Amino acid sequence: MTRDELLDLFRRSGALLDGHFRLTSGLHSPGYLQCALVLQQPPHAEALGRAIASRVQDLRPTVVLSPALGGVVIGHEAGRALGVRAIFCERQDGRLALRRGFTLDATDRVLVVEDVMTTGGSTRETIEVARAAGGQVVGTASIVDRSAAGALQFDVPFVSLLRVDLPTYEPDQCPLCAQGLPVVKPGSRPVAV
Ligand SMILES: [Zn+2]
Repeated sequence: MTRDELLDLFRRSGALLDGHFRLTSGLHSPGYLQCALVLQQPPHAEALGRAIASRVQDLRPTVVLSPALGGVVIGHEAGRALGVRAIFCERQDGRLALRRGFTLDATDRVLVVEDVMTTGGSTRETIEVARAAGGQVVGTASIVDRSAAGALQFDVPFVSLLRVDLPTYEPDQCPLCAQGLPVVKPGSRPVAV
């Protein structure tokens, strides 16, 4: 999938909106991104999984590991496209952990898959979970990279399908507020693109 095809898919799904938004963090932004709105359509999730798989095949992963909840659907679809296991870790007492009988060992070549990377924090934590369990991490991948330029640094190869630049502002420093544009809370009601 090309960048334009991905952007079109996100916009048609209402997963990427342009305007003036108040995010759950309280910050304002000219854009709103919600991957779940693309992934709710299984054919779209499947296509994104195939797109990730095509970009990471050379890493020869034998298992996909994703952090719950955001990474579960795309991790499953990437695993399907690669023909490998797809497992997930989840928060327990504030830390990501493998549960439900999922295991890794030294023969496992682990690809860590996320929906969105912003700071890379949960990705790095998932990489550590895989290593602590005995797996060999061969790379990491996400649908969207919305980090500040250069913010994502890992000690394994990293690919993302779509880079989007979504600045955020404190409300009292928001240039859109300064222009008098009304602010919208995403998800509170349908928003025209
Ligand atoms: Zn604003």
